[in-house]
Amino acid sequence: MHGPGTDRKDGHHLVPLGEARDHVLARCRSLAPIECDLVDAAGAVLAAPVRAAHDVPPFANSAMDGYALRAADSAGAPVTLVVVGAVMAGEVPAVPVGAGQAVRIMTGAPVPDGADAVCKVERTRPGEPGTVVIERSVDAGENVRAPGEDIAAGDEVFAPGTVLTPAHVGVLASLGVEAVTVHPRPRVAVLATGDELVSGPAPLAPGKIRDANRPALLAQLAEDGFVPVDLGRVGDDPDAVADALERGGATADAVVVTGGVSVGDRDVAKEVVGRLCDDMRWMQVAIKPAKPFAFGIMTASGVPVFGLPGNPVSALVSYELFARPALRQRAGHGNVDRPRLAAVADADLRRRADGKLHLMRVVASAGPDGTVRVRPVAGQASHQLRSLADADGLALVPDGDGVRAGEAVEVLVVDADRLAGPDRPWGW
Ligand code: AMP
Ligand code: MG
Repeated sequence: MHGPGTDRKDGHHLVPLGEARDHVLARCRSLAPIECDLVDAAGAVLAAPVRAAHDVPPFANSAMDGYALRAADSAGAPVTLVVVGAVMAGEVPAVPVGAGQAVRIMTGAPVPDGADAVCKVERTRPGEPGTVVIERSVDAGENVRAPGEDIAAGDEVFAPGTVLTPAHVGVLASLGVEAVTVHPRPRVAVLATGDELVSGPAPLAPGKIRDANRPALLAQLAEDGFVPVDLGRVGDDPDAVADALERGGATADAVVVTGGVSVGDRDVAKEVVGRLCDDMRWMQVAIKPAKPFAFGIMTASGVPVFGLPGNPVSALVSYELFARPALRQRAGHGNVDRPRLAAVADADLRRRADGKLHLMRVVASAGPDGTVRVRPVAGQASHQLRSLADADGLALVPDGDGVRAGEAVEVLVVDADRLAGPDRPWGW
């Protein structure tokens, strides 16, 4: 008897995706905070609050090139004022502004004492020598940037958990901050296993294939903001796999191994992960691709190991669903998942009922009305890596006979930039 949650082909109990993810995420805590130079901090997650040591802007300054004046003097505009000086950005005003007077001022220059507004140069014209004609009245405070208007001294500028963007780096630089307390980017070691694997351009010997997973995962880790560590390639030899995994545990914050986690005679990686971890859990997850998955915390090092399937699409999808969120959690992120969008199928997303969630490779485009539309990419088997390279996302096609054209489907967006698409013109 095969109920839901049981693989129809091999009778293994299938673990729901959510349960498998929860198992992993519950065991991958954030890394202890470190001090990080501000220049290296973009992408990192703040682990301690930052307070402002001073106001930003630090002093009242002009928002325009123009004339600093007393707003009251401009009431009967046009009016002529006597120009008593000039102040450039970076200077200190030499003279105050009295009644009937103005000081030529540039954007960012301190507003002289006595002045309470700036009239932009486009609203003025030269008068008699030594004077300026103010053509329109200005209100008190107009075109003056008040001290502390952006950030007040003592403010908590950014709270722990903030993901630092270039704008955050700019703000922190404006406050004189040179180092911040952040969660470190996890160092992640990658090992490929398989007797059939070779690398490089030499002609392939019979039965051999080139290792695609390790370069792909190293690249993915770098793209995701982690620090990739290459453990190389080993055959299906338990001692060699164990040595490499232990090396990974000693030098990295997480280890990813591909191949050898299924039910084949030479699937040794899962046995070795079991040997090195007290709590290894091997799962048949109710998804396609990427059904087999092994996970544990290495006893010697406390480092998590992700045992991903060898089929290249399965390896990357398994990374995407388990390793990436767990590693983001290690990096301190609260938001660990890719965006999931409500989309409409542009073509049928066909499948058979098998008790699993299918993650179908799709190309996505946002139509002129902003609706995301998806079409399946040709070649959905788990060894067909090229179609993953062509895909923008993974459509989450629930168990059943698929999604018909025109029906709604949820999509995990793996390449949001491509969603912008040439068919989404700027109509502004
Ligand atoms: P396994 O999970 O070891 O049973 O491997 C499943 C399939 O993935 C087999 O066809 C392997 O040859 C293939 N495979 C395993 N590792 C890699 C790799 N690093 N690069 C490309 N294909 C691989
Ligand atoms: Mg193998």
